[in-house]
Amino acid sequence: MAFAPCIGLEVHVELDTESKMFCQCRNEFGAAPNSRCCPVCLGLPGSLPVPNRKAVEYVIRTGLALDCQVAERCRFARKNYFYPDLPKNFQISQYDEPLTYGGHFHLQVNGQQKRIRIRRAHLEEDTGKNIHLPDGRSLVDYNRCGIPLMEIVTEPDFSSPEECRVYLTELRAILRYIEVSTANMEEGVMRAEPTVNLIDSDTGEATPMVEIKNLNSIKSVYEAVKYEIQRHWRCLESGEEMYQETRLWDEQNSLTATMRRKESADDYMYFPEPDLVPLVPEHEWIEEIRASLPELPSALRQRLVERYELPEYGAEVITADRDTAVYYEQIVEAGADPKAASNWLMGDVMGYLNEQSLEIADLKVAPEQLAELLALIESNTISGKIAKDVFVKMAETGQSAQEVVKAEGLQQISDESELGRLVDEAIAKNPKAVEDFKSGKERALGAMVGYIMGQTRGQANPQLVNQMLREKLGQM
Ligand SMILES: [Zn+2]
Repeated sequence: MAFAPCIGLEVHVELDTESKMFCQCRNEFGAAPNSRCCPVCLGLPGSLPVPNRKAVEYVIRTGLALDCQVAERCRFARKNYFYPDLPKNFQISQYDEPLTYGGHFHLQVNGQQKRIRIRRAHLEEDTGKNIHLPDGRSLVDYNRCGIPLMEIVTEPDFSSPEECRVYLTELRAILRYIEVSTANMEEGVMRAEPTVNLIDSDTGEATPMVEIKNLNSIKSVYEAVKYEIQRHWRCLESGEEMYQETRLWDEQNSLTATMRRKESADDYMYFPEPDLVPLVPEHEWIEEIRASLPELPSALRQRLVERYELPEYGAEVITADRDTAVYYEQIVEAGADPKAASNWLMGDVMGYLNEQSLEIADLKVAPEQLAELLALIESNTISGKIAKDVFVKMAETGQSAQEVVKAEGLQQISDESELGRLVDEAIAKNPKAVEDFKSGKERALGAMVGYIMGQTRGQANPQLVNQMLREKLGQM
């Protein structure tokens, strides 16, 4: 048997537009339930939809970023089904005529390149949200009804959960770079639905295709796909019967369970939406959108590696978010050493942002100010250790590095007469360490260095202290 996993990914992304897809209700997260609705998004009789141009633009933007073709003409379709969160009893979607199609995506997994085909990226509207209370009652919030939703579908080209993880991480970064969505999975703004089965490439024999519904973290996708592949192997070996079906991921117990046996497209009675004319995006407009695309994460990563000799991993961390990448290049442009800048950004800066739950855009330390701090370390005005405290002060107050150093009297002490006095004092107060050092115990020097650092609140120049202590002890 030559069975191998075949995985496809369907990703839904709420677009970051001001208003909803077919009405003027505000598109925002977290408003009071049912406070962002109107007759159009509630599907009341006589209401008519008007498409949101920005949403169409965002799907074209995404399609172009994924190397898709943009349709010269396409139509919306009605997908008919009843569900309490869908007051119209149909969803306006796209069926046989997607807005963009036929793209591809290059993955980098364990040093190997892999090409994933993008089948389509199309436009539809989101549904409302059912909320099931512990006492058995169910409530429905229609605020989400009609929010512009983009669906990005790949061909079943993934062969491992790891490839899915890398794709989703990269796709999320792209969506943020091109500013079409916050792509926040915790808020449900981006949701993924993998399809999984095993196919024998020699015989064409396959296990039934299973779709896993609405996963809202990359980790759940990874775990659910991994579980499902193993389940298919198990069933194949034991001969247990399998079905084409939709399954749900049970996070708590780390397993998938049947939700419903697979419905087919026929069940939805798709038909062209009679209330909307076909979309015909002008060629010029498409070219304008193409020209406005920023440098995408993979290209930027490549450039950082080549221009600043950053390691692959560092470039990945820095480009995960566009603002961070821009910030990095500004530190370097302000004169900082690229390596020192990346170490500081990934260490102290990201550490501080995480601790304070801040985004880099909220950071009070401008890139030029961080470059100035690095210059103070470089010139031995302050030690690397003290610079960490200076950085936190800068971030809290918005002061420059010079201002903090001056106000707190933190300049590194490199004055030889002052250090000479402290060296004598350290030797006088640590007779045991002196004796140990003289009998060949190198480490005993640490006690004396420590004494001087303590006396100067860490401001003594450590290299100089070391050198002077050794000279003095050598003369004794
Ligand atoms: Zn509305």
